[in-house]
Amino acid sequence: MATTQITTHKNYIGGQWVESVTGRTYQVHNPARTDQIVGEFQTSSADDALKAVAAAKEGLAIWANTPAPARANVIYKALEILGRRTDEMAQTITIEEGKPISDAAGEVKRAMNIMEYAAGEGRRMFGYTTPSELPNTVAYTVRRPLGVVGIITPWNFPLAIPAWKIAPALICGNALVFKPASATPLSAVKLIEIFEEAGLPPGVLNLVTGPGGQVGTALVESTDVKAISFTGSTEVGTELYAESAKRLKKVQAEMGGKNAVIVLSDADMDKAMGGIVQGAFGSTGQRCTATSRVIVEDGVYDQFMAELIDRTSKLTIGDGIDPSIDVSPLASQSQKDKVMEYIGIGTEEGAKLAFGGHALSGGDYDQGYYVEPTIFTDVSPDMRIAKEEIFGPVLTVFKAKDLKEAIDISNSVEFGLSSSVYTKDITKAYEYINTVETGMVHVNASTLGGEVHLPFGGLNSSGVGQREQGTSMVDFFSEVITVYIDHAAEVSERARFI
Ligand code: NDP
Repeated sequence: MATTQITTHKNYIGGQWVESVTGRTYQVHNPARTDQIVGEFQTSSADDALKAVAAAKEGLAIWANTPAPARANVIYKALEILGRRTDEMAQTITIEEGKPISDAAGEVKRAMNIMEYAAGEGRRMFGYTTPSELPNTVAYTVRRPLGVVGIITPWNFPLAIPAWKIAPALICGNALVFKPASATPLSAVKLIEIFEEAGLPPGVLNLVTGPGGQVGTALVESTDVKAISFTGSTEVGTELYAESAKRLKKVQAEMGGKNAVIVLSDADMDKAMGGIVQGAFGSTGQRCTATSRVIVEDGVYDQFMAELIDRTSKLTIGDGIDPSIDVSPLASQSQKDKVMEYIGIGTEEGAKLAFGGHALSGGDYDQGYYVEPTIFTDVSPDMRIAKEEIFGPVLTVFKAKDLKEAIDISNSVEFGLSSSVYTKDITKAYEYINTVETGMVHVNASTLGGEVHLPFGGLNSSGVGQREQGTSMVDFFSEVITVYIDHAAEVSERARFI
């Protein structure tokens, strides 16, 4: 990407690319090469957000009355356009977020999967009919859009998370105001271009870039916005949920994680190792489903640690645009500072630094936010590094005497997003599935990811409100209306009790 020619990207409101009313812009840099400017974006204010809400109200009038299968056609068209732009979109993700290009390509695929799945819902969108208790009466349910919906997303999946909110919201007939993370607005701009080219009517999907405290807050506070779909930190999500509740808004908030893997003595060690190394250090640990804790049964602990350190030491670190790279830079200076701070905290708390622990410098490393994959052992569940989300390439390892103790450690955090156990014992696997406190549970697989036709989300501080994706996406993005039709020819005695 050229550093000399900087493109200024605009907001998209009412089908027009427009500047912010503030007249201000900000720049985004490549986290692997900070001298490369990804682009310039609008520093929007609450006024821009409210203009977008007004435009969305107009778009809603058209879109809500478009039959769902016809809405699906627009999403299918967008899917086709995205399919033509996959390489470009993967590069955009890597250049603005920093993740390895293979992870970015996987993210594009994930976005395409959800668009395909959501479009398919256009021919389902089921209600149900049921016998009425009264004669000559028909009773059934239909789904209706919520209205104007605010979409607020984080930087770590700049394409997939917006796609897995926007496509479901659109198929249900809503009009949207989309506020992407300030750190990664280029993928968002391109996603809007794709929907524009696909023929989405003006006002149905609006984009406003700029600070969450301004643009996001305005969406939460506007009474014209009927629902918010948020993914981000537990801190912001908790506040957003409380403020939305005061205004009786529907909210889904997907938030942080502190995901644990349990390795039992009978585990397939090779399989476990692959899942853990990828789970902990893939995408530089900046996935909400990343593995940040491993709890190993006593009997295999020494063997496990030796293999874990050996595998981790072989990871290549560099600019994610190079396909041979395993671990790329953190997404920003503040991410790097936070990770280094936690490495310091872990050391002070008395955990043992078994691998890594340093920021990388010299040569190309001076250009980006590089931190070594880091492993702490001798970690106890009450340490901060054991409880708090670090969101970087830092793995904490615990020892447990049996499955019961391992599950207790796994459940000892406030988060509850994803978890995994490696064992060949089906009885132990089921004991784990039935007692571990996370929204997504894996057996003999990494804590990462999920499939778009299954619900995605967490318990406790990891998530609140209806799950994303799967059939629950329609439940969140639509209202259920109950209809009673009296088709009797004559007036009759009719009684309902409520
Ligand atoms: P933040 O909570 O900082 O930001 C998320 C979004 O909220 C951004 O668009 C941000 O805008 C916006 N925002 C910030 N302040 C406000 C506010 N007061 N009102 C409304 N919106 C606001 O999270 P990050 O972007 O740092 O993302 C990382 C977090 O996301 C991690 O905790 C991670 O675990 C979580 N995450 C959870 C997932 C899940 O499904 N459970 C999936 C992926 C990530 P701005 O960028 O301008 O600050």
